[in-house]
Amino acid sequence: MAKSSRFDAFGELAVAGVRGLQPYVPGKPISEVQREYGVHDVIKLASNENPLGPSPRVQAVLRDAISEIARYPDGAGYECRQAIAKQLDVDAEQIALGNGSNDILELIARCFVASGDEVIFSQYAFAVYAISTQAVAGKAVQVAAKDWGHDLHGMLAAISDKTRLIYIANPNNPTGTWLGRDELYDFIRGVPERIPVVIDEAYLEYARDPSHGLADFPDASCWLGEFPNLIVTRTFSKAYALAGLRVGYSVSHPSIAALINRVRQPFNVNLLAQYAACAALEDHAHLQQGVQLNANGLQQLYRGFEALGLNYIPSAGNFVCVDLGRPAAPINEGLLRAGVIVRPVANYGMPNHLRISVGLTEENQRLLDALGAVLADN
Ligand SMILES: *Cc1c(COP(=O)(O)O)cnc(C)c1O
Repeated sequence: MAKSSRFDAFGELAVAGVRGLQPYVPGKPISEVQREYGVHDVIKLASNENPLGPSPRVQAVLRDAISEIARYPDGAGYECRQAIAKQLDVDAEQIALGNGSNDILELIARCFVASGDEVIFSQYAFAVYAISTQAVAGKAVQVAAKDWGHDLHGMLAAISDKTRLIYIANPNNPTGTWLGRDELYDFIRGVPERIPVVIDEAYLEYARDPSHGLADFPDASCWLGEFPNLIVTRTFSKAYALAGLRVGYSVSHPSIAALINRVRQPFNVNLLAQYAACAALEDHAHLQQGVQLNANGLQQLYRGFEALGLNYIPSAGNFVCVDLGRPAAPINEGLLRAGVIVRPVANYGMPNHLRISVGLTEENQRLLDALGAVLADN
């Protein structure tokens, strides 16, 4: 037992940002649902992971790399940054690697935001923006959403002398909404050059693929030459199916990348992750297969929701928010008992929605069947 202290809780000793922090709530792990609900055949459609799994090349490279794990990884991530830079047609000096792109999102706040400085993001934006802002005691300026997506005019209007950073996810998580090329370009052009703008492209590979049918979807990295304050973040967790290894990156002006490289831990991306990322980038066919599977699965879910008489928010990602038209918590509970893990989004202010990640065809069908049964019972 810990000895009691004259402080009721050490919470009051924490710095201001940490004191106000609420932990990120991740999707439930499969093992936890097996334990708590006594169900064995559990499927997880809760964390926007790739149901296809990583490229076989990644698996082969990892088997070999295991023999090297007694050594520290390359702290500069040389090979990995070269490979990413080549793919994006930028200089390696523009790349900073992160332990997942969440790491990068937080490092960016640490670089630019001090206590009381303002950070702009949208209502229904990714929870990590609020957490990263709070952790450095920044002031969150949350701009009301428009049709579940970003109101870019509202966000421009929210800029003040105290604004130090802007976060935008395109496509957005949890809503799946997206911003077209012209509107996003005009927004970035409208932001004063002293304010860094993060475009979080965690789901870009899905949204950009022709199978998704979004001809107008922008790749913000194309504008880096024009806007030195632009920071684009990407991840290997979603379309590249490496969520468990934790690797992501930013691409920006070299001077911003240099700042991020100053504050990150020297070995923030582990050895296996660096090997895996390089191998994953090379397997275009596998990426394409996953993206196509996702496009088909989204359509399957849309049709299934329609058959159940449910509305949904059309998505550019590998997940979709379905509107149950009533509190989602009891329905989520019923799904868990049926061994289906999805993501409640009440913490995002969406108590009637569930966010469902696209799975394999049979997983999507199992979700739809379970959802129909649980809705009928409640
Ligand atoms: C999943 C996700 C990320 C990526 O997280 P990692 O730390 O790279 O696993 C970043 N931004 C958004 C909006 C996401 O949904």
